[in-house]
Amino acid sequence: MTEEITTRPARTRYAPSPTGSPHIGNIRTAIFAYLWARHTGGQFLLRIEDTDRKRLVEGSLENIKDSLLWLGLDWDEGPGKGGPFGPYVQSERLELFQSVAKKMVEDGTAYYCYCTPERLDAVNKAKQAAKQAPGYDRRCRTITEAEKDAALASGLTPTVRFKVPLEGVTTFRDLVVKPLTVENSTIQDAVLLKSDGYPTYHLAHIVDDHYMEITHVIRAQEWLPSAPLHVMIYNALGWTMPAFVHAPVILNPPGQKGKLSKRDNAVSVSQYQELGYLPEALLNFLVLLGWSYDDHTEFFTMQELIEKFDIRRIQPTPAKFNLDKLDWINAHYINHVLSVDDYARRCLPFLAESGVISPETAADPGDKWEFIRAACALVKDKVKILTEVPVEIDFLFKPGTDLQYPATDLIGKNDTPAAAAQVLEETITYLRQIPNETYNDREALLAGLSDISENKLHLKNRGLMLWPPRVALSGRTKSPDLMGMIITLGRDETIARLEQARQNLASLG
Ligand code: GLU
Repeated sequence: MTEEITTRPARTRYAPSPTGSPHIGNIRTAIFAYLWARHTGGQFLLRIEDTDRKRLVEGSLENIKDSLLWLGLDWDEGPGKGGPFGPYVQSERLELFQSVAKKMVEDGTAYYCYCTPERLDAVNKAKQAAKQAPGYDRRCRTITEAEKDAALASGLTPTVRFKVPLEGVTTFRDLVVKPLTVENSTIQDAVLLKSDGYPTYHLAHIVDDHYMEITHVIRAQEWLPSAPLHVMIYNALGWTMPAFVHAPVILNPPGQKGKLSKRDNAVSVSQYQELGYLPEALLNFLVLLGWSYDDHTEFFTMQELIEKFDIRRIQPTPAKFNLDKLDWINAHYINHVLSVDDYARRCLPFLAESGVISPETAADPGDKWEFIRAACALVKDKVKILTEVPVEIDFLFKPGTDLQYPATDLIGKNDTPAAAAQVLEETITYLRQIPNETYNDREALLAGLSDISENKLHLKNRGLMLWPPRVALSGRTKSPDLMGMIITLGRDETIARLEQARQNLASLG
């Protein structure tokens, strides 16, 4: 029987296996579990499920912790925090699992299995040939003492298998997925304890969820087919099952489209971090993969999520992973939520990573801060991810003499070299003579240049006036706002770049 949802404080857990940096689909269950614990005023636990020794990846624990903390998901009990039900790493709890398995054998709800991997393989092959579903034939339920002794004498260490009650049916009830009923006889006598003394997931999570007093298990839907087996194990142990939510499958998960870009192939939280996604945006995006508050709210702060999150609104139907939506959410946070200071501060590591500034400057910008801040601000309303920032603004940090561009780029549409040169000349003259207040005022600058365009040079449109200086300052035909560049680069550097452009044009002859 699943426990009904109550308003009492929930104890939830995120139970990753340390097999690398958490996949962003996987960490979604941590978000759900975290929010439900916080919403109900309960506790969120981190438990490391490292019983599959072959799949361990070094450094995973740090990566898991970093990923959770980066997303703002702090745990109340678990590695690094301790807690009353520790240790929270399964390999440090082997005695407990072994004693539960032993007790189950004594109670008659589990049995030792002496079958060798070769025999199991042969059984599967025979079943396959007979067009039967693969699986163990439950032979060791009825093994004789003599056979047992022979197996032990050969040095074999038995596994412990669950003794599925073969009569009747078992129903698993989830809080969001519809009930699942199975014929008991179709369920495998799953291994609970392996011959290496480590438990399987089936035993370990049940023991830990019980002793850690977990009230709600939120896990991926891939575990749903095993859930009736888990009901049987809970029954065999005489324990009450926590409430369960199987979070929906994510369709088109990242990294499976076979595309070549780093962005298309990113799968782990740390890869998204490296690409310049913001933790609050990634969190906001992930929480909407299978959960919604209503049919229209798209943006939530962590505080709002904690207030509004209800596990009963997790959807049972698959959720679609849409990278464009993630970009859209990330851009929203960059453009509309972050302050300029906050945004520029977050750009620092990306500027250093791409060599635009030094790591020392990134760590302590000192008197370079104002310039960096202004440069980043120029593209705040344009970029979707922070790795785009250095690409957009690196030319501001290089000496003007390093800009490489064909002089012909300076000539705007329908323009001539002479006309472009004249525009540059007028711009230089104008920028030389205006007072600082005008120089640093975007609107005033634009008005000044427009006035020259219209009343002095009589150009057909203002674009012809703004084009040559834009290329002169950036070396590009697409650049951030011209007035912003003029102000950010400052008068000396701006005029030097304009002068240089004039010479480049002259070289066209
Ligand atoms: N270690 C399991 C996994 O990573 C945990 C599943 C669960 O949350 O119970 O899939």
